Amino acid sequence: MGIIVQKFGGSSVADTEKLLIVCDRIIKEYKKNNKVVVVVSAQGKTTDRLITEEKEVTDSPSAREHDVLLSVGEQITISKLAMLLNKLGYNAISYTGWQIPIKTDDIYGNANIVDINTDKILKQLDNNIVIIAGFQGITKNGDITTLGRGGSDTTAVALAAYLKAEKLYIYTDVDGVYSDDPHTNINAVKYETISYDKMLEMSKNGAKVLHSKCVEMAKKYNVPITVKSTFVENEGTVVK
Ligand code: ADP
Ligand code: ASP
Ligand code: MG
Repeated sequence: MGIIVQKFGGSSVADTEKLLIVCDRIIKEYKKNNKVVVVVSAQGKTTDRLITEEKEVTDSPSAREHDVLLSVGEQITISKLAMLLNKLGYNAISYTGWQIPIKTDDIYGNANIVDINTDKILKQLDNNIVIIAGFQGITKNGDITTLGRGGSDTTAVALAAYLKAEKLYIYTDVDGVYSDDPHTNINAVKYETISYDKMLEMSKNGAKVLHSKCVEMAKKYNVPITVKSTFVENEGTVVK
């Protein structure tokens, strides 16, 4: 019984209908006798909305409070997803970054994961699908941090590394990594596989399909990433 990590991004969890499709993806892996850890982002444009709301309050928020606010979106998703899985008859339990804890440095807004205590996750995996909030962690002083926009990808890679997962899937709204953004370039071609270095170059040049820090971490820990579509059933791209 290996551990599988599945990450679903904002567009994949945007509404309840989509969350039910995500449940299908999770249940399919769970039924193969896998231990399943799920990482999710905030729903749709939630994080953007939080930033707009913050601007209504102040132009100069403290970095600490900015992260307290921005981390909220993912907490909504984890609870809803756990509730839906429960309703469908599956044991599932949600955790925020600080509950795990996912420990980070104190660079608010762009924090780096420095350690993950896997005890709670490993214990819960005996009886539960474990749902974890992406994009957030906690400093050694107990303050909430966020990992930078798009940072849920990094949470997923870090968890796969620390849990020594058998497989990491990053599910998104495109069916793999292309030579260019398939939403703006119809001539973009899909890669079957791509190296960490090439992917890193693309991420640094703005291909937001994978966050650059997540690719750096995947290379460091040698964690292959399979990028797949939440909505279309096909092979995806393996980053390795
Ligand atoms: P998620 O919400 O799942 O994290 P993102 O919006 O962060 O998804 O990333 C997926 C998006 O990345 C796609 O919708 C696509 O428009 C964009 N993208 C940019 N460059 C590429 C590329 N080279 N290959 C695939 N997708 C790309
Ligand atoms: N919700 C965060 C963002 O919008 C993190 C993520 O989606 O990966 O940037
Ligand atoms: Mg993303």
